[in-house]
Amino acid sequence: MGEALGDLKRTCYCGDVGPERIGQEITLMGWVNRRRDLGGLVFIDLRDRAGIVQVVFNPETSKEAHTKASALRNEYVIAVKGKVAERPEGTENRELKTGTIEIQTKELFILSESSPLPFHIDDEEGEAAENLRLKYRYLDLRRPKMQRNVILRDRAAQAVRDYFHEQGFLEVETPFLTKSTPEGARDYLVPSRVNPGQFYALPQSPQLFKQLLMISGYDRYFQIVRCFRDEDLRADRQPEFTQIDVEMSFIDREDIYATMEGLMKAVFKNTLGIDLSLPFPRITYDEAMARYGVDNPDVRFGLEMTDISDILKETEFKAFADVLQRGGIIKAIQADRDLSRKDLDGLHEFARGLGAEGLNWVKVGPEGWPKVSGPLAKFLSQEEKAGLGKRMNPAPGNILLFMGDSAKVVNDVLGRVRLQLGRQLNLIPSGVFKFVWVTDFPLLEYDQAEKKWSAKHHPFTSPLDDDLPLLSTDPGRARAKAYDLVLNGSEIGGGSLRIYRREVQSRLFQTLGIGPEEAKEKFGFLLEALEFGAPPHGGIAFGFDRLVMILCGAESIRDVIAFPKTQKATDLMTEAPSSADSRQLAELSLRMMVPK
Ligand code: ASP
Repeated sequence: MGEALGDLKRTCYCGDVGPERIGQEITLMGWVNRRRDLGGLVFIDLRDRAGIVQVVFNPETSKEAHTKASALRNEYVIAVKGKVAERPEGTENRELKTGTIEIQTKELFILSESSPLPFHIDDEEGEAAENLRLKYRYLDLRRPKMQRNVILRDRAAQAVRDYFHEQGFLEVETPFLTKSTPEGARDYLVPSRVNPGQFYALPQSPQLFKQLLMISGYDRYFQIVRCFRDEDLRADRQPEFTQIDVEMSFIDREDIYATMEGLMKAVFKNTLGIDLSLPFPRITYDEAMARYGVDNPDVRFGLEMTDISDILKETEFKAFADVLQRGGIIKAIQADRDLSRKDLDGLHEFARGLGAEGLNWVKVGPEGWPKVSGPLAKFLSQEEKAGLGKRMNPAPGNILLFMGDSAKVVNDVLGRVRLQLGRQLNLIPSGVFKFVWVTDFPLLEYDQAEKKWSAKHHPFTSPLDDDLPLLSTDPGRARAKAYDLVLNGSEIGGGSLRIYRREVQSRLFQTLGIGPEEAKEKFGFLLEALEFGAPPHGGIAFGFDRLVMILCGAESIRDVIAFPKTQKATDLMTEAPSSADSRQLAELSLRMMVPK
């Protein structure tokens, strides 16, 4: 049973009481972080979201408060009235804002008691298992580390809003109960009670609405908005996540790059106090794939890949000869550090575990290239060595790692070997933020299973003007006016200039095998809108959770979302999802097929 708050008013946050208040009578409220009984005095660390302050109960100041304080336990909610005083010499903690003062308590009010906790709130005590943290999320969110993340997220959101408003953007909300938006994931469906047998889809993104807003003339739109995708969850994915969604009219790609670079600068300045230098470097998709094997390159370190298929075209090494015969490729990366036999075997196994045949290698002797040792050495001819030496310029002691396979496997696996090796050799600096724009993505990709082309970004993305004719001749080669922003090897945003001419949109649908009937049924409203004066437009969306995760230096996206879901898309606290009762199902005209 707690005491009533009555007309008690708190003076300020616990964590904000500094030496400037010495001598003042104040009232504080918060949670008991810790209680210590020391020879007649009781000390409480009182905590709120601003931090911790030391509260002292001395029988000489108030016998009543001192007696009452012996009942206090961790996480009780209390109010104290008392005087701010300097701490006795030798007991200060200069690291805390409140570290040189304490509160000499005259009155104590126990507002609410707490049962013993399932885990410690104090970060120094280590972190509990995540399932327990998620079940008691409201307790987990009391932890200083989580409070820092939640507060930093708020600051980032505020920086986004301030920046866009300064730039003349309008924040416009778009519906959650809507029609499917094709972003390549599965939809979350919501049955409509008043339209039996029909479903809304939760938006995978506001893509179509933001384009319609452009057609309506709101030429600079943004929104910090929830999106829903029913995907199998990987480590940094959530079924509902937040985007910074943007669309602009009468612009080209340069306008997007410049505006978004300004956004990143504002966000980093206002959250971490970091001044990013602009502009960000750019790399085309083709170049990113060639040098890093991925379209989200981590450019904080080197270890770039080199294609050496042409140099080894007559190789005597059978495995590589077979690969080339089958139309595969051979790429190499060069490490300028020594690697032990054990490290190399480890990387070989790592590559095999990811589905490659393995890694091959040579080591450059102290005399320098072309004196090499290692499993591949005896297969390299003079000519091949000359070619490799010229292209890769290896130095004494360097190690060259080779992989041959289909382009897909080499890029994917060697790309991951590169990251692994970068970590292993400590080549990835921490505390640096390296952005890169990846541009000119392919417009389409071939879906082997479905035997048809699908949009790489989404089907409203404009092809490069020069590549338009390729739609009928060689669709796989058509490039798009699409771009991603990559930060430290994570894709944090992606977007494109859109198709704003109806005939181009129809042509693309045709290439995608979407017939006029299907197009009309799925996106009829957009196609129709394109008939009524659509401005040239384009935009981008950033994964806000992922961006905040990087800003916080958090390990998991769940650590920057107040109430996240597990990998199985469940909420352990509310126990959602849960079953619906038969009346609700009947109202929705649904029948359950899962056995109870
Ligand atoms: N709607 C896209 C997405 O969610 C972003 C964009 O093209 O603006 O990835």
